[in-house]
Amino acid sequence: MNLHSELQELQDFLRAALLDPANPDQLAITGSDDAMTWQQLSVAVTDWSHRYQQCRQPAGAPVVLYGHQQAEFAVAIYSCLLHNIPYIPVDCIYPQERLNEICHLASAPYYYDVATRQFIATGEEGQGLVEQDLAYIMFTSGSTGKPKGVQIGRESLWHFMKWVRQDFSLPDVPVLMNHAVFSFDLSLIPLLANLATGGHIVLNAKEDIAAENWLDRLKDNGVSVWVSTPSFAYQRLLSPQFNSEYLPELNVFVFIGEVLNKALVKQLRRRFPHAKILNSYGPTEATIATTVIEITDEILHSENDLLPVGAMMPDSRMEITSEGELIIWGKNVMRGYLGLAKENAEKLLHRESEAFRGYRTGDLGYEDGLLYCQGRNDSQIKLNGYRIEINEIENRLLAISDISEAVVLPLMKSGGGVLRIAAFCVTNLAPEAIKTSLSKVIPPYMVPSQIIIKDALPLNPNGKIDRKLLDSHARTI
Ligand code: AMP
Repeated sequence: MNLHSELQELQDFLRAALLDPANPDQLAITGSDDAMTWQQLSVAVTDWSHRYQQCRQPAGAPVVLYGHQQAEFAVAIYSCLLHNIPYIPVDCIYPQERLNEICHLASAPYYYDVATRQFIATGEEGQGLVEQDLAYIMFTSGSTGKPKGVQIGRESLWHFMKWVRQDFSLPDVPVLMNHAVFSFDLSLIPLLANLATGGHIVLNAKEDIAAENWLDRLKDNGVSVWVSTPSFAYQRLLSPQFNSEYLPELNVFVFIGEVLNKALVKQLRRRFPHAKILNSYGPTEATIATTVIEITDEILHSENDLLPVGAMMPDSRMEITSEGELIIWGKNVMRGYLGLAKENAEKLLHRESEAFRGYRTGDLGYEDGLLYCQGRNDSQIKLNGYRIEINEIENRLLAISDISEAVVLPLMKSGGGVLRIAAFCVTNLAPEAIKTSLSKVIPPYMVPSQIIIKDALPLNPNGKIDRKLLDSHARTI
């Protein structure tokens, strides 16, 4: 199928799903603010686009959406998809300065403040994007010290939706739990699966999740599909009610975003003996997810300590270089980072023999019938599922006047995974003052929990900063 027909197919699908829903009276979205049926959603997406048109944005300019888990946030996203408006989701956990930075990098003339339902002028002139038919731009942590915008085409989004509908073991009418902020593309699994199946998505704000009766919210809504990072599910195991007796409808778990380990799967098996547990893998640059597999008992009890991430989605293949780097080739690979020619040249590959672009993931892995992912070849880390470039934190620290040297270290848990982030700084500033400055430009999850002030950073015999020594020093404090 050529690109034109694919985009037309998506458009036809969106029009039917959103403007002529099959089950108009069924709930479509329960947000932290509001709940609405498919019929009400239909009215809301049309109303949103009318209000958007009144801003008279330059053709093809992206719109930034700023909020946190409201039904209205989902309405704005669905409306952008329906009306072919490239959108950039930014959650309120991001400080205002990062929001401004993103609006500037994307030349977005407006951002939509979901809480007040207002379009706010950013002062940017606004111009159409070079890439046509983009679905969205997702900003992730960038090693140069600024967030980088991953541009995803509408054809990739459509490809993803069809795959999820077919291969994710979803019930006919799923009720999907979302915990992830919309600026993390994990949230698009439930959001797009909801659209693809005519289901019901339950959005959970930070406060909802922290509340004692959060599980009641999931129970009352009859949540049947759980989508989260493994870290998020781990935390829920602390609640004894997190089990199939209390949540009888919950029968599919989808994990993505970081390593899924056997210990978690075993505990979930005990709590939810009949549920399917899926492991899915993929970077934002390859449209949310690229592989999936159901973790069966046979896989769980195999000798390999590592769980597989599965097999590739259709129209996509994995190449593994001699150094073990995973390279994704396929329809799902991004159009490129917004305005970052150097990064695009480094990360995107083109080959005459390949029908689609390739993306160097920076992940290391191997294949023995199934794919396995074993870690990174660079300084990108995951902390509670959030993707962080250690270099970005270092650059942000060095941008604070009065800090002359800075080193940031992820401290690892004994069983793998990042425990916390520590930073060593040569400065006369106090740690709290540094944290306050950082909080103005980066989200809380990127601010090192430990900041240690030094007169000078220790060097190893080669004259390089002795990171091993600093690591053991941070652990003793
Ligand atoms: P993000 O772009 O935030 O979705 O992060 C993508 C990165 O998370 C990947 O490149 C991997 O390093 C890691 N990742 C995602 N899913 C998995 C998984 N199932 N197992 C291991 N690592 C994963």
